[in-house]
Amino acid sequence: MKHVVLVVPLYNEEGNIDALLTSIENVFAALPAYSYEVILVDDGSRDNSLQVVKQKAQQDPRVKYISFSRNFGHQNALKAGLDMADGDCVISMDADMQHPPSLIPTMLQHWEAGFDVVYTVRQEGADLSAFKKRSSSTFYQILNWLSEIDVEQGTPDFRLIGRNVLNELKRLNEYDLFFRGLVKWVGFKQISIPYQQEERFSGKSKYTLKKMMRFALQGITSFSIRPLYAAAYLGFAISLLSLLYLPYALYSYYFGRTISGWASVIVTIAFFGGLQLTILGIIGIYLGKLFMQSKGRPLYIIKETNLYERS
Ligand code: UDP
Ligand code: MG
Repeated sequence: MKHVVLVVPLYNEEGNIDALLTSIENVFAALPAYSYEVILVDDGSRDNSLQVVKQKAQQDPRVKYISFSRNFGHQNALKAGLDMADGDCVISMDADMQHPPSLIPTMLQHWEAGFDVVYTVRQEGADLSAFKKRSSSTFYQILNWLSEIDVEQGTPDFRLIGRNVLNELKRLNEYDLFFRGLVKWVGFKQISIPYQQEERFSGKSKYTLKKMMRFALQGITSFSIRPLYAAAYLGFAISLLSLLYLPYALYSYYFGRTISGWASVIVTIAFFGGLQLTILGIIGIYLGKLFMQSKGRPLYIIKETNLYERS
C-alpha cells in the first residue's frame, strides 16, 4: 500500500480544520489502494486552531501536527511539514478549502503514470478579486523576466511531489524559501493540471498586502541576481546619456549663460538621488539575505508535535 502524506500549513484557521479533514477522509475512502496521513502545521496561530488540531489528532491517528513557537510564515510552515514527511508522495495544500481535496485522485493518477511533480494552475475564476488577479499576474511577469526559471502564473502551493523530489527539498536550508520556484528548479518530470479555486470556507485571507509584497520581493531576489546587473547597466547607460549634456554645458560656459539652468540641475539631482536610493535598496536586499543566511538560524522552531509518538 502506498502512503500519501498531506502537508497543510495553517494560521488562524480554527473554522476550517474540521471541514478539511472530513473532506480528505471522504476522498481517501474512495481510494482503497492508499493509506494517508495529514500533517497539520500550526504556524503560531492566535485563535483556537491548536486546540482543535490536538483534539482531532486524539480522535484520529492519521492526524499529526506540528506547532510552532510563533508565526514563522507559510513557506517555513510548509518546509517543516516536508522535513517531517515520510511517505511515497507528499501533497501540500492550504487549510482554507481553496485547494479542493477532490483533485487528489487526479494528482495520484498522474503520479502513478510516472510524473514526479503534479502542480496545479488556478483557473481565473470570478471569485478572485480584481486586485489579486492583477497583482499576481504582474508579479509572475516580473519574476519570469528577471529570473532564470519560468514559474507559470497562478501556481499555488497545491501540488503533489514524489519521494525523489521530497528528498531534494528536505536538503534545502535556505533563508527566504520560495517553493513555487524551488519545485521548478529541482527539475524531474513535471505536469500541470488546472483547477477551479473555491471560496474560502471560513475566515479571511492571511496574506495581507504587506505579506504579499514581502513574498513577491523574496521570490524575485531568491531566484535571480539580475536586478544587481540591471542596476549596473542602468548606471552605465545614464553616464553615457549625461555625456550628451556636455556640449550644452560648454556652450553655456563660453557664452556667459552660466546662471541659467537651475531647473535642469534640480531635476537631475532629484532623478539621480532617486536612482541611487533604488539601487542601494536592491543591493541592500541581497546583502540582507546574505546576513540572514550567514547566521544559519533554523527556519522554524517547533513548540510541540505528536509526530514522534507511537500510534
Ligand atoms: N498561512 C500560514 N502562515 C501565515 C499565513 C498563512 O501558515 O503566516 C497559511 C494559511 O492558514 C493557509 C495558507 O497559508 O492555509 C494560505 O493562506 P491564505 O489562504 O490566507 O492565502 P490566500 O489563499 O488568500 O492567498
Ligand atoms: Mg487561501
